[in-house]
Amino acid sequence: SMRVVSFSQPTTYGATGRIPVGIARKRMRVVVTGGSGFVGSHLVDKLMARGDDVIVIDNFFTGRKENVVHHFDNPRFELIRHDVVEPILLEVDQIYHLACPASPVHYKYNPVKTIKTNVMGTLNMLGLAKRIGARFLLTSTSEVYGDPLEHPQKETYWGHVNPIGVRSCYDEGKRTAETLTMDYHRGDGVEVRIARIFNTYGPRMCLDDGRVVSNFVSQAIRKQPMTVYGDGKQTRSFQYVSDLVDGLMALMEGEHIGPFNLGNPGEFTMLELAEVVKETIDSSATIEFRENTADDPQKRKPDINKAKELLNWEPKVALLEGLPKMAADFRNRILNEDEGKGN
Ligand code: NAD
Ligand code: UDP
Ligand code: UDP
Repeated sequence: SMRVVSFSQPTTYGATGRIPVGIARKRMRVVVTGGSGFVGSHLVDKLMARGDDVIVIDNFFTGRKENVVHHFDNPRFELIRHDVVEPILLEVDQIYHLACPASPVHYKYNPVKTIKTNVMGTLNMLGLAKRIGARFLLTSTSEVYGDPLEHPQKETYWGHVNPIGVRSCYDEGKRTAETLTMDYHRGDGVEVRIARIFNTYGPRMCLDDGRVVSNFVSQAIRKQPMTVYGDGKQTRSFQYVSDLVDGLMALMEGEHIGPFNLGNPGEFTMLELAEVVKETIDSSATIEFRENTADDPQKRKPDINKAKELLNWEPKVALLEGLPKMAADFRNRILNEDEGKGN
């Protein structure tokens, strides 16, 4: 059975969401799937601030109502508990499709569900976009490049992915989601956008999602050793969440399909990251080595020239600036957690 959500307020500029030149911007109706998660909730904040009507679709697998609760009394905001693996009927202008667990711990927890979310969830959102003529944006990932043989990674690189590994549910899932997106574009004329997101951090990340930045920051705050996997010489590039949200909106509003890499090209080894956490959060923090996980990409760094040129976008927040903002949020939440336990 499908859910029907109707709107009393029709928009006046047609279903494509294109804004006629010279006319003030009208209110957009926007769906954000996965909108109560980490990235989604920051995107929702910015869309709400812009004056849009925002519908969040989320099954709360990793998302939390707390992330969007400050919009509950705003009539322009609506939260629907729904799993994107099931069809849904809505009338909107734009669809930001983020629903999918993003941290390795979460996406490996139920790998078949991760694939269903990526394939059936994306299919449903594209079917919806096709029916109502909405513009659709897919949040893909740098993981489509796998353990890359090209460095830094450009959008033209086809990747080096293990199809039968423990990460495949996620990286092959996202590769299929990209394929579906392009096929709905070519076959059905759906207006699509594809972002390939590189490692992103910031306030509202799950405290214990197992990702390296959230692990190191919560470990440093809890006075536990930071767990470095493997030799700690593998690299990643870390983007602050507000930069990503700016990039996603520039992509949605722009005229280019992509795919576009959205990430911060600053490259750090895990040992260097631990050092920065120590400098910015707790100078007495220590590290501890652990065995690495399977199929861990050795290097990752985005080439963002395409986004710079065509979207006029580039990240602004350096790691040294972003980490303290995240730490302030983590400190509050860890403190509340401890109080909750009666400590
Ligand atoms: P997150 O886990 O915080 O958010 C994902 C949201 O999707 C959660 O609110 C979750 O409850 C929801 N969700 C999951 N499965 C669902 C389903 N079947 N139906 C409805 N809702 C569902 O993760 P995030 O970091 O905010 O990631 C958002 C998107 O960005 C994901 O698609 C992810 O793959 C992509 N991405 C993120 C990063 C990053 O570093 N954060 C990097 C690359 C790509
Ligand atoms: N779909 C949806 N909402 C809509 C339109 C379609 O959830 O408003 C789902 C639909 O149930 C289907 C998928 O999107 O499973 C793909 O739709 P499409 O029309 O492309 O394909 P078909 O229905 O012909 O399989
Ligand atoms: N990592 C680490 N300690 C941790 C968690 C992760 O050293 O506590 C490493 C992990 O092995 C990987 C890198 O940090 O090399 C990034 O891992 P994350 O899970 O954050 O993201 P992804 O592998 O998806 O890029």
